[in-house]
Amino acid sequence: MTVAGMPVSLAATPVPVGLDVLRRPDSSRPGDVAVDGPEGVYERRRRALSASGVVPATRPWALVRVRTPADVAEALGWARRCGRPVSVRSGGHSLSFTAFREGAVVLDLSGLDSIEVDRGTRTARVGAGVTSLALAQALHTEGLAFPVGHKATVGLGGFLLAGGNGWNQGVWGSAAESIRAADVVLPGGPAGSAVAGPGTHRIDRTTDPEAFAALRGAGPGFPGVVTAFELHLRPRPAVVRSVAVFDGRDVAEACAWADRLRESVPPEIELTVYLAPRGGQHAHLTDGSTVTVSATAFCASPAAAETLARQVLRGAPESALRIDRAPTDIPSMLDAQTLPPGLGMAAQQAWTDTSYSTVVPPLLATVGAAPSAHNSVLVSSASYRRAEPPARDMAYLPLGTITVAAYAAWAPGQDDEANRAWPGQVLDAVRPWWAGHYVGELDLRRTPELLPSCFRPGVLDSIAAVRARLDPDGLVAGPLETRADRSVAGSAGQPLGVTEGPPHPQAS
Ligand SMILES: Cc1cc2nc3c(=O)[nH]c(=O)nc-3n(C[C@H](O)[C@H](O)[C@H](O)COP(=O)(O)OP(=O)(O)OC[C@H]3O[C@@H](n4cnc5c(N)ncnc54)[C@H](O)[C@@H]3O)c2cc1C
Repeated sequence: MTVAGMPVSLAATPVPVGLDVLRRPDSSRPGDVAVDGPEGVYERRRRALSASGVVPATRPWALVRVRTPADVAEALGWARRCGRPVSVRSGGHSLSFTAFREGAVVLDLSGLDSIEVDRGTRTARVGAGVTSLALAQALHTEGLAFPVGHKATVGLGGFLLAGGNGWNQGVWGSAAESIRAADVVLPGGPAGSAVAGPGTHRIDRTTDPEAFAALRGAGPGFPGVVTAFELHLRPRPAVVRSVAVFDGRDVAEACAWADRLRESVPPEIELTVYLAPRGGQHAHLTDGSTVTVSATAFCASPAAAETLARQVLRGAPESALRIDRAPTDIPSMLDAQTLPPGLGMAAQQAWTDTSYSTVVPPLLATVGAAPSAHNSVLVSSASYRRAEPPARDMAYLPLGTITVAAYAAWAPGQDDEANRAWPGQVLDAVRPWWAGHYVGELDLRRTPELLPSCFRPGVLDSIAAVRARLDPDGLVAGPLETRADRSVAGSAGQPLGVTEGPPHPQAS
């Protein structure tokens, strides 16, 4: 028999028949399996686990594309029978490449892409593989909205589990605060234990408050496979985006203005300072200049958004090279940020409690030295300036008043290692002001020691307790343990995607 073109015998560990592998081994249709092999289907799908064009050398054992919760349960049971750990992929944007688990069965959930909207109750039921843009577009046509992430292709699965810093966070809160419930396939425990056997569970505030807290912020440490989220929706806002572009020499004046805005404008204004090399990925905002202050107003009516935008720009410094103001909407803002496909990607993030004037100037030199023109730094107070205090009954809480996130994006093979290292160098420039980190934007392969500083005291212990209860033998709850992969991709390790991984067991 062949699987994905490879001769295999799976007699001892039968593949779940529901996954179609035995009938359509080389099929591109969803629900099939590619087992590790040197090239061909397996390697193409392994690389496609990540949106990055440069991926770790880590080799999972089998890649399973699922279409239904039943597929997920069956694949978990199969992995257990095979003695294999499991990792999960929704949108493939993990900056720690957590789906790439050595020797694991990887569940690719990108086929779980259904969106059902109930306008009456302002609720959406959304598959874990849905992307930011797909959800934003579906809601836009219904006159609704959700705080999706700022990049079109980010998957809801990983974004919501990490906490989710989305649009209009000042008013809507983090995206995870808008999760009402989730359908989760739990791996069960070993035969004979109290939780034996995989099965689907609805997790919400009442069915399992501790698991619900972990669902909203544990990130890759969540010990189950979410197949669908039930989300609280908002009325579609009117949006006006204002930008003021500055030469790097005027950074002090630009930041002083941004700090004044931070203190004075209402939370309906999402305030971000972008730093990008000339011609970089925010060129549509920056004209290729280096410092851009962006203020996006989310209001109930176009007139209110326009008034707020005018108010913001009234105090803009005269040194601004360009000042613009234009109505827009969430899908358009997502579309505008699309980079060419296939670029390598890396990032690091830190929270700080200081000001734009403190953290932005030291970042400028690192942006000037960026090895790729697509690299950028976002410095934003959007997640902090809030209409209401953030929910505290969940694992995620922004740990500072400003986030600094450095993103590298580059053509594969062009300075791979320099680009991978660059986000860390950016963050080092503001290390004295670090107040914590966000698990969704860290590269935990390079900096696993930063994991504890992603959470308030006690939260990691609470997550560990949920993991021990719902996944007692660690079938799924493993990706936070990045130790096994450090020799491949740690700071002193081999370059991503250039070398092959260590020897791995073949299906035989
Ligand atoms: C270009 C870019 C822009 C970004 N912008 C933002 C932003 O605006 N705001 C923000 O908050 N974050 C942002 N992020 C970070 C992003 O939210 C995280 O990387 C997130 O993990 C991506 O989710 P994913 O499903 O695409 O990733 P994946 O790589 O598919 O998933 C990451 C990990 O999360 C876990 N996971 C994912 N889905 C499931 C599931 N259904 N069940 C169980 N576990 C699961 C798994 O451990 C998985 O390996 C951005 C990242 C990139 C690369």
